[in-house]
Amino acid sequence: MLYDVIIIGGGPAGLSAGLYAARSRLSTLIIEKEADGGQIATTAEVENYPGSVLNATGPTLVARMVEQALGFGAKKISDEIIEVDFSGKEKIVKGKNKEYKGKTVIIATGAVPRLIGCPGEKELTGRGVSYCATCDGPFFEGLEIFVMGGGDSAVEEAIYLSKFARKVTIIHRRDELRAAKSIQEKAFENPKIDFMWDSVITEVKGEGMLESFIVKNVKTEEEKEIFPDEEDGAFGIFVYVGHIPSTKLFENMIDMERGYIITNDDMETNVSGVYAAGDNRVKSLRQVVTAAADGAIAAVQAEKYIDENF
Ligand code: NAP
Repeated sequence: MLYDVIIIGGGPAGLSAGLYAARSRLSTLIIEKEADGGQIATTAEVENYPGSVLNATGPTLVARMVEQALGFGAKKISDEIIEVDFSGKEKIVKGKNKEYKGKTVIIATGAVPRLIGCPGEKELTGRGVSYCATCDGPFFEGLEIFVMGGGDSAVEEAIYLSKFARKVTIIHRRDELRAAKSIQEKAFENPKIDFMWDSVITEVKGEGMLESFIVKNVKTEEEKEIFPDEEDGAFGIFVYVGHIPSTKLFENMIDMERGYIITNDDMETNVSGVYAAGDNRVKSLRQVVTAAADGAIAAVQAEKYIDENF
């Protein structure tokens, strides 16, 4: 089957594109390799998406987005795309399970968390080192937690983690946060949250479980090893040091800047009939609301392209 629109990625950008395309009666396929929703699915609280109800969570918002897109007739499948060929009029998207063909493609692949990149990190992921407060926060009930990073994600998730933890320490490489002022204020007011400035984690240690870590002061170069409080016996590290766009598949085919896809205001890439939407493209604000907006624009432009070219 030749789909009108193939959407790669089922986060807010992809689901919004799916909603708009399907509502325009275009045959629409959304392909997602993991769980629906992308990064927002692992976000505890979503309070800045317009119309979010009080205590809206990432998963509840995503569930409503999926229901709405499918309700208008979009089809959603699970597959991991391993190769694409955008050279012909019909775009070919090859998955691990199947090959798909579309008149247009919307790349809504989002971004993934950046790792610290220090010794021990990979071995201890899921064993005391985590990238998802919503998933793993409850394991640290009553224990101490360290959060690395100073952006919106680090500070928001530190606030969330303070609901479980006895104490949360934000480790940041500078002496001022990058996070929005409103988020910073909440953290500064939170009696459970402390800060370790000008510092980075340089090694995490443990046999099977996180047992200690080394933190370095980037100004003095001084290093110290941090162990759990004896009474606690265990602690956790949550890493929020930014994101990497999921665009490797499109290298040498789609124009990019530092790995982010370049589009115009209509979400068009340098390849006609191929659009990008969401956190994977060059833009100034990466939010659910801007991802959803990108998806809507891409779908409307895809419809125009189909009308003119098929
Ligand atoms: P971010 O804004 O890029 O912040 C990354 C943080 O990690 C920065 O504080 C950065 O330090 C630090 N960092 C980066 N590389 C590091 C390294 N190698 N070692 C130590 N520290 C390092 O990323 P984010 O917080 O994940 O946010 C991503 C995007 O999503 C942003 O546009 C953000 O606004 C948005 N977001 C919004 C919300 C919200 O509005 N509620 C929530 C979450 C995310 P420096 O500050 O020194 O660069």
